[in-house]
Amino acid sequence: MTTSKRPQNRADWQALAETLIPSLETRAFIDDAFVDAASGETLETLNPASGETLAHVASCDAADAELAVAAARAAHARGDWARLAPAKRKRVLLRLAELMEAHKDELALLDTLDMGKPVSSSLGDMAGAIGSIRHQAESIDKVYGEVAPTGDDSLGLVLREPLGVVASIVPWNFPLMMTAWKIAPALAAGNCVILKPSEKSPLSALRLAGLAKEAGLPRGVFQVLPGYGHTAGKALALSMEVDCLSFTGSTQVGKQLMQYAGQSNLKRVYLECGGKSPNIVFADCKNLDKVAKRAAAAIFHNQGEVCIAGSRLLVENSIREAFVDKVVEAAKAMQPGNPLDPESFMGAMVDETQYRRVLDYIAKGREEGAQLRAGGASLEGPGYFIPPTVFDGVTPAMTIGREEIFGPVLSVFGFDSEEEAVAMANDSDYGLAAGLWSQDIDRIMRVSRRLHSGQVFVNNWAGGDQTVPFGGVKQSGNGRDKSHHSLAEYTELKTVWMSLQG
Ligand code: NAD
Repeated sequence: MTTSKRPQNRADWQALAETLIPSLETRAFIDDAFVDAASGETLETLNPASGETLAHVASCDAADAELAVAAARAAHARGDWARLAPAKRKRVLLRLAELMEAHKDELALLDTLDMGKPVSSSLGDMAGAIGSIRHQAESIDKVYGEVAPTGDDSLGLVLREPLGVVASIVPWNFPLMMTAWKIAPALAAGNCVILKPSEKSPLSALRLAGLAKEAGLPRGVFQVLPGYGHTAGKALALSMEVDCLSFTGSTQVGKQLMQYAGQSNLKRVYLECGGKSPNIVFADCKNLDKVAKRAAAAIFHNQGEVCIAGSRLLVENSIREAFVDKVVEAAKAMQPGNPLDPESFMGAMVDETQYRRVLDYIAKGREEGAQLRAGGASLEGPGYFIPPTVFDGVTPAMTIGREEIFGPVLSVFGFDSEEEAVAMANDSDYGLAAGLWSQDIDRIMRVSRRLHSGQVFVNNWAGGDQTVPFGGVKQSGNGRDKSHHSLAEYTELKTVWMSLQG
């Protein structure tokens, strides 16, 4: 359905949901057709804001993975995508971006219904997803090979070729945006992609498959395999015919994928994993009210289910008391609401498992002696809602100071010197993002360089666009999404050395 009149309010979104749900595509997309899982099995996907069943989706396993891999290999061998002129691939991908734009309300609503995030936030994700497809499409016919500096008797060419078959395994927290960050560069570079969405949020991926077909992606070039990680995901990761795994998800599963690659064909593995990102506030920063609101949004956006959530707030002790008061005030103004209400800033936790996990961390924070300043108790159901929760007086030894909670829980630490702040920030298994707030340019440069992190946000949180790479160091992973750096990851370098009559 295209969007002639855009939904304006909760009633409009509810009405759109009521027309959308009965017509949901729930089958896998394999070899250019929507099909049931070979086993006939399905998995249930729930609306976490109501606890109601949304759909029963094909639950693919190794048999379906084998079919999809065979179709992708055949498509790669035919070459009607891999060897198509880049300018022509660009046109197809730009058409896909146009179709996504035309259907963005529907796609955003699918993510909101499936994983509980506010619809305004899902619409923001659509802009990121569509922007990613457009950016990579526009880039692909600007990638040149190289001519090596040889003598007259030789010609050395360095060519960039597609890898072949890429399996993209993605999480549920930004279902379509994470998908687009993976598939856009892989498809633009000429690869065939098999997407394994999270079992908790498969609906937008299946709708995307229909749009990709309509856009003209050739048979077998883009396929979607809904299913569990230990069945469909594992089968793709162990396949001898998959050339690359691009993964966004937990560090624990990322480690397993590296093992699967070693047990099979040494496929490339690009990992975007978890985080416990430090957000450092120095006493010299300007406008503490604004910074406190931004620090609260850095953790409570998307219910805290964000890989780069600013979950460790490090505050210089001279301003800590006053600053934490302001953060608590901002947090209290961010109460979760109905995800279909465009005014809601926070929605529901993705499911009961995640909800219980976050509540367990909150209990642990109390037990280990952190000082609860806001939130701390779940809200009345139906649905899995947890309010913004702030703990002050957290130390690096506490569980809530070290582990990724992936929920709306902020851990506040105090520090007395720049040296101490940097040491505390870097004292983590993760290295995905870090933030610093200061007006001192010398300090900004010094600290930015010393933070062991894939990205550093200065006087903002989560800034950036398609032109800059996104990824982590340490146990946050090794891959980079977005920008020409991600496009390069999905190409193989080939050397052609010719002997000439000198
Ligand atoms: P997860 O690791 O549980 O699952 C991610 C995906 O892996 C899902 O599709 C799942 O089905 C699949 N999977 C699970 N077990 C598998 C196996 N044995 N073999 C193959 N596939 C398997 O993560 P999640 O709960 O969906 O997402 C939350 C995590 O994702 C958090 O740790 C978060 O930090 C991380 N994340 C990272 C980024 C980033 O860019 N670094 C972005 C978003 C989320």
